[in-house]
Amino acid sequence: MKITIVAGARPNFIKIAPLIHEIIRVKETGADISYRLVHTGQHYNHNLSDIFFKELEIPEPHANLEVGSGTQAEQTAGIMIGFEKELLQHPCDLVVVVGDVNSTMACSIVAKKLNIKVAHVEAGIRSFDLAMPEEINRMVTDAITDYFFTTSAVANQNLLKAGTNEHNIFFVGNIMIDTLRKNESRFKRPQFFDAHGLQEGNYIVMTLHRPSNVDDPVHLKNLLDAIVESIHDYHLVFPIHPRTQKTLDKINFKSDRLILIEPLSYLEFNYMVKNCKAVITDSGGIQEETTVLGIPCITMRSNTERPETVTVGSNVLIGNNIELLRQQLAHVFDGSWKKSSLPELWDGATAPRIVQQFLQLEKSGRL
Ligand code: UDP
Repeated sequence: MKITIVAGARPNFIKIAPLIHEIIRVKETGADISYRLVHTGQHYNHNLSDIFFKELEIPEPHANLEVGSGTQAEQTAGIMIGFEKELLQHPCDLVVVVGDVNSTMACSIVAKKLNIKVAHVEAGIRSFDLAMPEEINRMVTDAITDYFFTTSAVANQNLLKAGTNEHNIFFVGNIMIDTLRKNESRFKRPQFFDAHGLQEGNYIVMTLHRPSNVDDPVHLKNLLDAIVESIHDYHLVFPIHPRTQKTLDKINFKSDRLILIEPLSYLEFNYMVKNCKAVITDSGGIQEETTVLGIPCITMRSNTERPETVTVGSNVLIGNNIELLRQQLAHVFDGSWKKSSLPELWDGATAPRIVQQFLQLEKSGRL
């Protein structure tokens, strides 16, 4: 069985690592399975791409489409053109896409039009917010996917409500947590940690990159003002996404509480999260990782496609409401954060379940 795996952006790299390692392991035991990894080049710099391959020991991609940055349409179109050539030159039995980035949607369309089966890992999650580009990517991908690998019962329900055949849905758990569990003992304290006098539990970590939070300079300034006012003598560690940096360059924000740094590597970032007081974020994956690490997570969005991080996990949603942010930070500091637990099958063993299912699909003639 020949599988082509697609990855384009930071969160994709974290999801494909355990899948590739498991395919290699199963192949070594004699199974008829091989993979080809296609990097679309959606994220291409060292901080957002190369370092993840190195740290997570992902083998070199077989092909890089080098699409680079551009508008949504430019990027999607570029990936489609490149991936069509790739699949024509290297036919396969199954294309595996992960997550919800432009590469996920673009490559699933190309594969289906070439009549190749598509598997979507992290299928079925929905924010029901079409203002999020990722929601459109999820909906389009799931409209044409053949086999749906899901992280939660809610994702299964979303797919069933959309008319998906239940025999094509496989509830396998959360593959990001495979990466988290496997690497937890390797998390790395970054150099700046000691240089800034940080200690376990005396800082907050923040990541923001969604347009609704970072494109308006006035809103970003108000947000940062409110945070530094509410965190007492704690530090705010802010690995800054290139999109957010552009807006920050337009405002004059200075505070000796703020530690502004480049995006961190996976091992360094998760060291920072594991040892912090709380996280403020608008990321999808970080809502999941904080739930598993049991760290309070304040999400600056009014909806989430990962509702189990709120109902079961350590996450709360506050939209872009600065007053709610102050209130939630007060809960962090007075020790009244809610108790949380782990969603079902977020156990670090998702990749083996997926690969077994691939083998089963092949055996039963469904590829
Ligand atoms: N992450 C990282 N370094 C950082 C910020 C995030 O390694 O400086 C990791 C984080 O642990 C998570 C993933 O990147 O696994 C989330 O990526 P992002 O927020 O870009 O995407 P989303 O999850 O929102 O799709």
